[in-house]
Amino acid sequence: AKSGGKGRHARYDATLDERAATDAQMGADLRLALDRGEFHLLFQPVVQLPDGVPAGAEALVRWTHPSQGMVPPDVFIAAAERTGLIVPLGSWILREACRQASLWLRRDGASQPWRVGVNISARQLREPGFASQVAEALRESGLTADRLTVEVTETAVFENGPAVEALTAISHLGVSVALDDFGTGHSSLGLLRTTPVDILKVDKSFIDGIPGREEESIIATAMLQIAEGLHLGTVAEGVETRAQVERLHQLGYRLAQGYYFDKPLPATEMGAKLAAAANH
Ligand code: C2E
Ligand code: CA
Ligand code: CA
Ligand code: CA
Repeated sequence: AKSGGKGRHARYDATLDERAATDAQMGADLRLALDRGEFHLLFQPVVQLPDGVPAGAEALVRWTHPSQGMVPPDVFIAAAERTGLIVPLGSWILREACRQASLWLRRDGASQPWRVGVNISARQLREPGFASQVAEALRESGLTADRLTVEVTETAVFENGPAVEALTAISHLGVSVALDDFGTGHSSLGLLRTTPVDILKVDKSFIDGIPGREEESIIATAMLQIAEGLHLGTVAEGVETRAQVERLHQLGYRLAQGYYFDKPLPATEMGAKLAAAANH
């Protein structure tokens, strides 16, 4: 079981045996939390290398439980998927991220080509009409499609058969598709032949060993070459040190995300960073 930090999430700390009961409880709690407005989004900048100028933002959901405090997404997203609550929650996340991005644009103007990334789970991707839901979120917020990226993992794309149709429909809207945690799934390379993908988000596990281990740099370079050959963008995830920044830049990486630059930020702080970049 996860150690929820000082046992704060003990209620959601279950063995497999206890999981069904916990899920039922969690499902009910998540439903209530959604109705009570206990979720909010933080935004982590995606930045240019090496200068750290923001080029986008990834929306990351947070749940402030009235008695247990901040519950991290690793604790509740999986349960939300198992209980199906991810569908209404994910719909709220998508609309809220579009609404927020649209506010930043209206305030700062559209001079900078940044995008907002929204994580989409396997279950959401398989909802009938998911692409129409994306279109509706854009329409209602007034955000243009070229400002939105959906982030999906390789596993999400392949679970219960490939979700190529949904991703194709989303691509046709003009929304970009990013493969999240790239390199950690089952068919990372096979997927690139069959799925409309615009951006590879190279998983933190491939970035961690840079610059120390030469093998890691070789793999990171190979991923970059594949991306460039296929005209895809790349983002290095989980960058934590200056040495990583220097090496990744030297290898040819142009975009990154990680604590070295910023942790996930409240919407106002994210907006201020985008505004500052626009006024440069
Ligand atoms: P992810 O999509 O791969 O998001 C990146 C995670 O890595 C985030 O954790 C982020 O805070 C963390 N991170 C970023 N830079 C660094 C770094 O330099 N070092 C370290 N150690 N971590 C870093 P977070 O926000 O806790 O989210 C965890 C996962 O939960 C996400 O992984 C994603 O799979 C899921 N998730 C978060 N928000 C959403 C959401 O709105 N919808 C869905 N479906 N899933 C979400
Ligand atoms: Ca992500
Ligand atoms: Ca990721
Ligand atoms: Ca991840």
